[in-house]
Amino acid sequence: MKIKLLDGSIKEFDQAMNVKSIAEAIAISLKKATAAAKVNGRYVSVDYIVGKDSTLELITNKHEDFYKTLNYTAAFVTGVAISELFKDVKLAKVLYKEDELEYGITFEVEPRIGLEEMQNIQNRVNQIIKNDSIISREMELKEAEELFNDNEYQKHLAKEMFKTYGEVSVYTLNGVSIVSKHPIVLNLKNIKVAEVQQLTGEYWLNDSDNIMLQKIHGMAAESIETLTAKKDILEDRRSRDHRIINKTLKIFGFDHLVGPGLPLWMPNGTIIKEQIKNFIKEKEWEYDYINVTTPVIGTVELYKKSGHWDHYGEDMFQPFNGGSGSDEQFILRPMNCPHHVAVYKQEQRSYRDLPLRIAEHALQHRYESSGSLTGLERVRAMELTDSHIFVRPDQVEAEFKSIYKMINEVLQTFNIQIDYLSLSLRDPEDKVKYYQDDKMWDEAEAALEKVLKDLKIDYKKCIGEAAFYGPKLDIQIKTAQNHEITVSTIQLDFLLPKKFDVTYVDQNQEFKAPIMIHRGVIGTYERFIATLLEQTKGVLPLWLAPNQVEIIPVGSEENIEYAQKIRKYLKKDFVRTHVDLRDERLSYKIRDAQTSKIPYQLVIGDQERKDDSVTYRQYGSEQQTTVKLEEFKNMILDLICNKK
Ligand code: ATP
Ligand code: ZN
Repeated sequence: MKIKLLDGSIKEFDQAMNVKSIAEAIAISLKKATAAAKVNGRYVSVDYIVGKDSTLELITNKHEDFYKTLNYTAAFVTGVAISELFKDVKLAKVLYKEDELEYGITFEVEPRIGLEEMQNIQNRVNQIIKNDSIISREMELKEAEELFNDNEYQKHLAKEMFKTYGEVSVYTLNGVSIVSKHPIVLNLKNIKVAEVQQLTGEYWLNDSDNIMLQKIHGMAAESIETLTAKKDILEDRRSRDHRIINKTLKIFGFDHLVGPGLPLWMPNGTIIKEQIKNFIKEKEWEYDYINVTTPVIGTVELYKKSGHWDHYGEDMFQPFNGGSGSDEQFILRPMNCPHHVAVYKQEQRSYRDLPLRIAEHALQHRYESSGSLTGLERVRAMELTDSHIFVRPDQVEAEFKSIYKMINEVLQTFNIQIDYLSLSLRDPEDKVKYYQDDKMWDEAEAALEKVLKDLKIDYKKCIGEAAFYGPKLDIQIKTAQNHEITVSTIQLDFLLPKKFDVTYVDQNQEFKAPIMIHRGVIGTYERFIATLLEQTKGVLPLWLAPNQVEIIPVGSEENIEYAQKIRKYLKKDFVRTHVDLRDERLSYKIRDAQTSKIPYQLVIGDQERKDDSVTYRQYGSEQQTTVKLEEFKNMILDLICNKK
């Protein structure tokens, strides 16, 4: 049999062999270093027997799946410890959460385990990883079902696994068995440390109609150093989480009676949002957009005609009636495209009117599942920096370039770190999802790709990720929680104009269908501000900071008056300030201003008052500088004007 390795090389063997022996045949040191493997993309143990031509990936401690492998294993070990310590435990599933870098094991036991048992479980886990090793076996479904006769969870997993792979991987340790399609290491010496950390609950298969199982969380690694490093990563992620940052900056809030996922923009958040909005509007002015305002609801017919009704379904708020007794039905719009089509159609447009760039900072509502709601990152009420641009076919390329340029300038102003650009194309095999017109698709996809090549932009081609109406370019970023999300987007659409019979009159007086480009410069304010908070760790640049200058008077009444005078003087030029009049020590006030990440602090004493000056200190700096008040104001205004 031929075994193809990750580096492309091929090794030949004249008999079936297990992974361990193949590793040894490649290099003796590899036998010990291999913790698990992937055969034809499927995770297997080192005892797995390879019997036919296959691709093989060895999971050694250098492999990206190594940490995950140890954690799935530790999850099982924890399950074994529980099974030994308590009677009639039914193990359910081993889990690993990439964004939390932690493992989990779910199980059912009566009576339920309490927190006071965690130390015992930890002690038993410690013993197991020091002394024992796991056995793995592949089996037929029938055998697995017999083995797990009284554990419906394992029977379910066995069935699922058999459906995909035609056999079931069963791992056994001290007489306790589990089905796992996830990587598991047999030699427990690979795990130096496994920390049992938390006890929670989780519905079986995450379905609230199912039983609530208990769940133990933990972290495992090959060394204390690795575990510490992983914890540092987690700590950094948590400190960047916009929901945590919000606790000190007070930007948004939620109220369960208003409804989950419906954000309340607090005064600080409203300031940030308005500053960004002004900036985007300036950019739209520069790039010749026209702004419109349209209602947040539309008739059901509008969305049936646009196709969103069929494609969106449960993801939107369901229709409601107009007046009582009226049979007119409306929906809260999940997107604004049909409204902008209606704006376009208010007049007969000619080829000379195109491109026509209709922009709106538009409210829209989506009924996102409650489990997916994440602070401002995923909400149900949102405001999109939306635009629909109507172009002739010969204008697609130039317009796409210009939109990309605009988006890029905007993101650079905010210093947004992009993960990658995704060029989402159709899957030509998928005849159901995609509007069928190969010529149209080929041309549009080629046009987008050409622009990206012309601009020398790196991108990932994502086949099958296009919208049903056309290809798109998405700008992807990673959140603090390691979610991959879209911020900006440019989408071509040749379908909607046709559905609504949108036309322009060309040079020969003929009616033609324009192409529509949907674009979100920074996506929604909600998601964008979540991103901004995470990427800046809440240290917003001066021009966005809700409070730009904190003024701290010390000493006499006159100094307080002078502080108030400074506030008025700066306010005239729209600088946002606050005078700290609390009865607290100076050092406390300074620390507080630091915690609130206010860009400038002014300390005002006798000397400053006498000289018409201020002593300022910038956020994050120890240095204090005394300048004339006017000079300070000019400096601040200059920075704000330059979006610093
Ligand atoms: P996703 O895949 O994230 O659900 P989508 O592809 O449905 O988004 P679009 O319809 O392209 O999103 O929406 C445009 C932009 O709106 C997205 O790029 C994103 O910035 C933002 N957005 C979409 N859904 C939400 C939401 N629930 N909460 C906050 N912002 C959102
Ligand atoms: Zn749109």
